[in-house]
Amino acid sequence: MFSWLSGDESRKKQPQVFNSVTEGLRSVYKTTIYPLEEHYKFHDFHSPALDDPDFSAKPMVLLVGQYSTGKTTFIRYLLEKDFPGLRIGPEPTTDCFIAVMKCDSEGRETVIPGNALVVDPKKQFRPLSRFGNAFLNRFQCSQVDSPVMDSISIIDTPGILAGEKQRVDRGYDFTAVMEWFAERVDRIILLFDAHKLDISDEFRRIIEVLRGNDDKIRIVLNKADMVDHQQLMRVYGALMWSLGKVLATPEVSRVYIGSFWDKPLHFDMNRRLFEAEEQDLFAEIQSLPRNAALRKLNDLIKRARLAKVHAYLISSLRKEMPSMFGKDSKKKELINNLGDIYRKIQREHQISPGDFPELNKMKEMLKEHDFSKFNPLKPKLVEKVDHMLANDMTRLMQMIPTEEAAISKEPAVRGGAFGNDSTPFGVGYGEGADFGKNEHEAWIVTRDIDKYERIFETLHPVDGKISGVTAKKYMVQSKLPNTVLGKIWKLSDLDRDGMLDLEEFGLAQHLINIKLDGNDLPLELPSHLVPPSKKGFIA
Ligand code: MG
Ligand code: CA
Repeated sequence: MFSWLSGDESRKKQPQVFNSVTEGLRSVYKTTIYPLEEHYKFHDFHSPALDDPDFSAKPMVLLVGQYSTGKTTFIRYLLEKDFPGLRIGPEPTTDCFIAVMKCDSEGRETVIPGNALVVDPKKQFRPLSRFGNAFLNRFQCSQVDSPVMDSISIIDTPGILAGEKQRVDRGYDFTAVMEWFAERVDRIILLFDAHKLDISDEFRRIIEVLRGNDDKIRIVLNKADMVDHQQLMRVYGALMWSLGKVLATPEVSRVYIGSFWDKPLHFDMNRRLFEAEEQDLFAEIQSLPRNAALRKLNDLIKRARLAKVHAYLISSLRKEMPSMFGKDSKKKELINNLGDIYRKIQREHQISPGDFPELNKMKEMLKEHDFSKFNPLKPKLVEKVDHMLANDMTRLMQMIPTEEAAISKEPAVRGGAFGNDSTPFGVGYGEGADFGKNEHEAWIVTRDIDKYERIFETLHPVDGKISGVTAKKYMVQSKLPNTVLGKIWKLSDLDRDGMLDLEEFGLAQHLINIKLDGNDLPLELPSHLVPPSKKGFIA
């Protein structure tokens, strides 16, 4: 009975159920965004259609930099091993795009050439075939047996040459390939050489095409051990100044300063800085699998908005075309007045100018098309996308925290250089950070406790404690400002009785020494610094 109710009408009221954010995104793309794109030739103008592997692929990291900034070496450093097809040399040998990915299930390490790669339906590279043979001969996948590859894939790119050499024709649209990757990756790491900071025109153009994705950009100032402290400050300043001219907001992009290779440090003075920066960068890379769903959602919203703008644009051009004569002259006129058409659409549909494609690029592309073959506006297609943005996307966004929480219980990026924390060369090892991990390692403050005890006794403790006033008189001798000493006090007076016992006093002295050594104080006392008898005071 009433079986027709199970048709279109009832389905409309029932919101679709999504099992995962990724599956939901794939589904809304296919049912709402793709039909709009298809109808207005979006794929000819902006970006090829998305494919299943675009949604299911592991997070990708794109490495971009001039020749010899250490991109390939950086990958080897992360993996702590070579990958097949790897070439590093004094000559610009990496003239390939290399997708470094997980080996097959039998653990075989192989190189898959570009032509084979773009016909593999399981990989996300099929649309790259449109860049032609000149590109495909310079594209390969290195399948490597490394646990790091369980969670991410890394794209190595050809080094960009400086000066004259860059004019050598690559035979394919290098910028467009970069743009294709930039749209799809989760992170873009721009590498600079602290030793040779010259930014070529081609590199500048590449950074410009990355601009639409600047939320994905992180910057590595590599080979920073090749310069001394003072030069490093100068290079850093110069880098920010140069980036300021190409990136809209370079100060927002985090810069990691370090030396990402396995050679001895030339200048050892910044070792601690490099270690801390490396730690931060690793944490950033390890967060990628957890944040992948949000990244995909962001990118899909961006794409849906562009698809809408494109539909309005193409359909208004179509509307202006005469039915019989004067098509060519009308087309020329429309292209010349494209800026006015942009503004009209902005007004009519309340769309911000920032959502529109770059004017001159669009003019160039439109020259290739016959406007009378464009489709007229089909409001239903746009409405469906609007409805999806307002409803499905909101629901998918609400699923993200739960999904992220489930993922973060699993190990993030593991193996390679990510596994070194368990060795004596992990950050903080031997400085107490390993206390609790390693039973042979005692509370760090114990090492100097005899010294601290001698001082403590000279302060005449009563019932094993010294008063705040007494402690202050002694602590100011460190010449540290009161704001810092106040912070140290808060970290040290664990039982909050306004006095310091020997352990608390020892801890305060230890923190003073940390600060005097030029390190930052922790915001909260890390568990390894908590005195054994005071474990109960830390939640
Ligand atoms: Mg290289
Ligand atoms: Ca106390």
